[in-house]
Amino acid sequence: MPKATKNTWEFKGKKAVYYERLLKAREAVMGQMQSHAESALNCSEAEKRGVTTHMADVCSDNSRHEMELRLMTEEGNVIELIEQAIQRLVDGKYGICQDCGERISEARLEARPHAVYCIKCKSEREKHNRF
Ligand SMILES: [Zn+2]
Repeated sequence: MPKATKNTWEFKGKKAVYYERLLKAREAVMGQMQSHAESALNCSEAEKRGVTTHMADVCSDNSRHEMELRLMTEEGNVIELIEQAIQRLVDGKYGICQDCGERISEARLEARPHAVYCIKCKSEREKHNRF
């Protein structure tokens, strides 16, 4: 996947705001992913040693372990979406709905900087269960 870096692209005005927002969002998700990875790792370590520490107690709850792994997958997907959004920013297509070609509202981009669809198309998709 092509990577856009600050060095190769100088964003100005609104684009700079979007770019900063995307970077921050990516950083936040990466932080979450890190902590989930650590707790998943701690669990498999505790299982291996067969220790009955507090950690093992937490880990014996298998659903929790699975939840951590599932969250990590979701976070990985979000990071990919953010990377793609940065690429769209480079290409000048950022903030355009990929279904109808309309501009995605500012409020939506603020809440979800990696949004690919406008609210209208997104809810249409959810209705038909297409993501
Ligand atoms: Zn749309």
